[in-house]
Amino acid sequence: MDRLNVALVGIGKIALDQHVPALLASGDWTLAATCSRHGAVEGVPAFTDFTRLLEDRPDISVVSLCLPPVPRFAYAEAALLAGRHVMLEKPPGATLAEVRELEALASARGLTLYTTWHSRMAHAVEPARAWLADKAVQEAHITWREDVRKWHPGQDWVFEPGGMGVFDPGINALSILTHILPQPVHLTEATLEFPANRQTPIAAQLRFSGQVTADFDWRQTGPQTWDIVVETDRGQLALRMGGNVLEIDGAPAGGANTIMGEYPALYARMAELVRAGQSEVDLAPMIHVADALTLGRRQITDPFEF
Ligand code: NAP
Repeated sequence: MDRLNVALVGIGKIALDQHVPALLASGDWTLAATCSRHGAVEGVPAFTDFTRLLEDRPDISVVSLCLPPVPRFAYAEAALLAGRHVMLEKPPGATLAEVRELEALASARGLTLYTTWHSRMAHAVEPARAWLADKAVQEAHITWREDVRKWHPGQDWVFEPGGMGVFDPGINALSILTHILPQPVHLTEATLEFPANRQTPIAAQLRFSGQVTADFDWRQTGPQTWDIVVETDRGQLALRMGGNVLEIDGAPAGGANTIMGEYPALYARMAELVRAGQSEVDLAPMIHVADALTLGRRQITDPFEF
């Protein structure tokens, strides 16, 4: 099968940590160019102007956008208007409506749009979904507590409007939840803690229908926690390490304690979608975040500095 040429846009933390290694190791893809104002990848043609890239490189059929959510729409729209397939980092946009607009544009032009959710590719997520498929869920609890200084060092955009604050990691948990639960749930109550000097929450406690709760906190130092525990009529399922490790009734039941499979799986899926002429657009995790920001009770907490 012919390799697909991809341009990677926004060469920052996630591009360098995950996208570049996944692309370089893949037989499906050639990393044909980058576009970034400051970043670059050694040995790969580097552009700083996206319009110029689209004009100069008609051989590049796919654009993968690793920018923060707020600037992403303009790049995605330009790429689709220029006839390129588009892959979006999570969360897929700054608003729900802009992603719907991109979906319509891609569909009208016969192009692929893929709203990726990397945590859904974690090793134990599909086994968890399969195990839950024929069970009655009685309650579920998410604990997603990490240290923002460790995972987003100096990234002030996460605390700017559209940066989503603690929902930037929390939406990963919600992407798993919306994928594994046999029945959908909806948000009924939320408390959001905003640092006095910031625009987005640093912690959130959520309550959903179906006895589902979530505890997101970006102030956890020491051991980090990314757990989802589901009680069912026939036992307890626990997903740990961000969906990579599975336990049933407290005993190991599969998965692998590494996040390194997620991005290779995303690019394999994108190659499949492009070759099949299909799109995959799922906004379910982002709808819960929007609902929390709509319904949430606001509390002001200590100012935050990196
Ligand atoms: P980042 O390093 O802060 O940003 C990525 C790059 O985007 C920056 O290096 C910058 O490159 C470019 N950029 C930033 N603001 C821009 C703007 N206003 N206009 C144009 N370009 C801009 O962020 P990241 O951590 O990689 O996160 C990017 C996306 O990946 C987010 O949606 C995040 O949720 C997701 N993600 C992050 C992680 C993680 O561990 N950090 C994990 C999974 C997913 P130039 O200055 O060179 O243009």
